[in-house]
Amino acid sequence: MRLLSPENQPPPLTGHDLYAGNRPLAEGLRRAAPWAEERVHALGVALGGDPLEWGRLANENPPVLRSHDRFGNRIDEVEFHPAWHSLMRLAIENGLHALPWREPRDGAHVARAALMLLAMQVEAGHACPVSMTFSALPALRATPDLAEEWEPLLTSLEYDPGLRPPHDKAGVLCGMAMTEKQGGSDVRANTTVARPIGGGEFELTGHKWFCSAPMCDAFLVLAQTPEGLSCFLLPRVLPDGTRNAFHLMRLKDKLGNRSNASAEIELVGAWARLVGEEGRGVRTIIEMVNHTRLDCVLGSAALMRAAVEQATWHAAHRVAFGSLLSEQPLMQNVLADLCVESEAATLTSLRIAAAYDEPGQAPFRRIATAIAKYWVCKRGPAHAAEALECLGGNGYVEESGLPRIYREQPLSSIWEGSGNVIALDVLRAIRREPESLEAFLAELDPDLRPAVVDIEEPGARRLVESLAVAFQGTLLRRHGAAEVAEAFFARSGGVYGTLPRGIDFAAIVDRHTPAR
Ligand SMILES: Cc1cc2nc3c(=O)[nH]c(=O)nc-3n(C[C@H](O)[C@H](O)[C@H](O)COP(=O)(O)OP(=O)(O)OC[C@H]3O[C@@H](n4cnc5c(N)ncnc54)[C@H](O)[C@@H]3O)c2cc1C
Repeated sequence: MRLLSPENQPPPLTGHDLYAGNRPLAEGLRRAAPWAEERVHALGVALGGDPLEWGRLANENPPVLRSHDRFGNRIDEVEFHPAWHSLMRLAIENGLHALPWREPRDGAHVARAALMLLAMQVEAGHACPVSMTFSALPALRATPDLAEEWEPLLTSLEYDPGLRPPHDKAGVLCGMAMTEKQGGSDVRANTTVARPIGGGEFELTGHKWFCSAPMCDAFLVLAQTPEGLSCFLLPRVLPDGTRNAFHLMRLKDKLGNRSNASAEIELVGAWARLVGEEGRGVRTIIEMVNHTRLDCVLGSAALMRAAVEQATWHAAHRVAFGSLLSEQPLMQNVLADLCVESEAATLTSLRIAAAYDEPGQAPFRRIATAIAKYWVCKRGPAHAAEALECLGGNGYVEESGLPRIYREQPLSSIWEGSGNVIALDVLRAIRREPESLEAFLAELDPDLRPAVVDIEEPGARRLVESLAVAFQGTLLRRHGAAEVAEAFFARSGGVYGTLPRGIDFAAIVDRHTPAR
């Protein structure tokens, strides 16, 4: 028996290598993008040091709205703790917002996904502007002139915060503003109006109910023109250095994601340029949304891994009733089940990311992103709750970091399409692009392919869940550890920790316990 502390408290999990300890991730990266191993590993090592503390500080010192200066002039700024800026700088310098655009080569999206999976473990909030900046470029490419102008700035490895004209900056960030009070999922209900002023330029007037990372340099915004809902690029600072009429009304008091700011904004004749075709705004911005949906999957998987690290570490150092928790059969069952979920989510993330590397996989990507977003993000909150309980009372205390994960997890299931909306989107894909379902089914092991695909609306969640589980089972058979795949197929479908006897719990837990 290892009794490491007389008080029976585990040592803090710091100074560890987040990458090397994450075997499913390291194995997946080696398969798809071995050229990126060194840099992903370097980030994994770096994240185990000071960034853990930056994450805590950024979460505990949330951003503050500064609507006016001391003389009463509108400034519409948000002030962040220095720890937030440190996290952002690390992410941007490592190209988490741009790697595949800067280095379009085989496995580039997988390499970036691996970097994101690591960074989001430390603090998920800062992934929001990173993800939106990454995702904006594919949408912006609908208007090549705009893309050409903005691409060098959006893909720069310099983090250059502060509101200044884009051409005076070494790098910029981009957000998005679609959701209005009257509708988030149903953006057709948008009432923000865009008035043409000539030359592809417009003035936007309206209110947006959720606009995250409002200190970004530009936003893709949906607004109505006579032709219908259209997409616009709206900079915060105008080319002449004056501020655009983009007013921050208040910041949301959120359940989690507290390091990041999410604002309500008012546009009062704000200057913007059309992106893509007028009246085809949803089609234009969906390019951005699909990439951020991928990042929702990565976010949930990253937080599962962070939770597994903490739970397995605690159990390996805490004694109850005379032996380590990690050696007690029922705790092993719970931990193993949590590890299986994490491995399945990691493999899912990497497979979906890989589909973004190959143009020929567009039909698969279309449906698989939605299926993975639905399932992996839905599994997050229950996973966090169970991992938290593994730490007992300590898990309920902020300092453990588990409450932060627990509060963050529901978010990725809500934004970029909530559960029902995503499930219905899968049905839409099946109806309108049947080749996407064919591509997805072809990916599954034959014995896991559903005999019938019921596309009645009330059954949408059931269908998507069954497709997602078949997909994860296939991936685990192909790439997971044998004992993990065996456990996956033996799950009861109830709460965690109900795996049957005969599963090699210890081997599964050992595979996932962080090494230090
Ligand atoms: C922290 C945070 C940050 C955000 N940041 C941004 C941002 O930066 N930019 C931005 O544009 N938006 C942002 N959002 C908004 C987010 O994308 C929306 O909240 C989300 O899309 C859901 O829209 P809604 O809130 O209007 O809910 P609704 O659309 O009203 O949906 C409510 C519920 O009804 C369900 N539902 C909807 N339609 C159907 C249907 N046909 N059948 C069955 N069920 C249905 C949904 O799944 C959901 O569960 C943010 C949200 C949060 C929480």
